Amino acid sequence: MYLADHTWPELGDRLEGSSTAIVPLGSTEQHGPHLPLATDHLIAEGLATAAAEETGFPRTPTVDIGVSPHHRQFPGTLWVDPPEFRDYVESFTRNLAYHGIDRVVYVNAHGGNVDHLREVGRRLHEDGTMYAIEWMWDESIPELVDDLFERNGPHAGPKETAMITHLAPDLVHPEEFEAARDGGLPDMGDAETMVHGARTFYDAVDNSANGAFGDPTDVTPEKAERLFEAAADQLVRLLEWLDAREFEALMPEPRVV
Ligand SMILES: [Zn+2]
Repeated sequence: MYLADHTWPELGDRLEGSSTAIVPLGSTEQHGPHLPLATDHLIAEGLATAAAEETGFPRTPTVDIGVSPHHRQFPGTLWVDPPEFRDYVESFTRNLAYHGIDRVVYVNAHGGNVDHLREVGRRLHEDGTMYAIEWMWDESIPELVDDLFERNGPHAGPKETAMITHLAPDLVHPEEFEAARDGGLPDMGDAETMVHGARTFYDAVDNSANGAFGDPTDVTPEKAERLFEAAADQLVRLLEWLDAREFEALMPEPRVV
């Protein structure tokens, strides 16, 4: 159920008795020469929509600009800084609590949002408002991601190429797959990202000249469908698990005496 499609009298009924909501979040940032800037928010919205249809839980509009200053050198990348992102997400999540929601899954498709969503979840948990947790789609199916593709990458690689191939094939440029690989960083092991225990880079462009990581040339529509369905299934299971918990059991333990 997509919250913003409904009238308020409809939502008065629909939200009654519903305790769990789905909030998709992504980014608007460069994804190499072969994928659109919308990649992360399209993935988050696609998975959230599928899970909302399957479970009937409400999903909110998508937050499509995230914490992406590390991609700023590439034209078109938009970002907000961490404090504003955290406060914004916390503020609208508190609105959901006002409407009776007491648990939320942040359906996230951008690595740069992870720590900040967890911090927002921690704040809401600490004061007993609700139980909100961050879910990153590819971390729910690590074995399948490894099995399907020869050379993965953390950003604009085959796994994200597959998801957009499934969700918005018209926005994918297969004629640029080889250029994405050859002008980017196909093997993460080749980058000197750590020196004597210290991470030595700040921006994506420090490791990949065209912003792509990994080799997307082995993406097929069949693999793309498998990947999407597997991640959507994990999300549905997480939502059902969360909805079945007692609220009190999700809240912080009392101080030990
Ligand atoms: Zn991405």
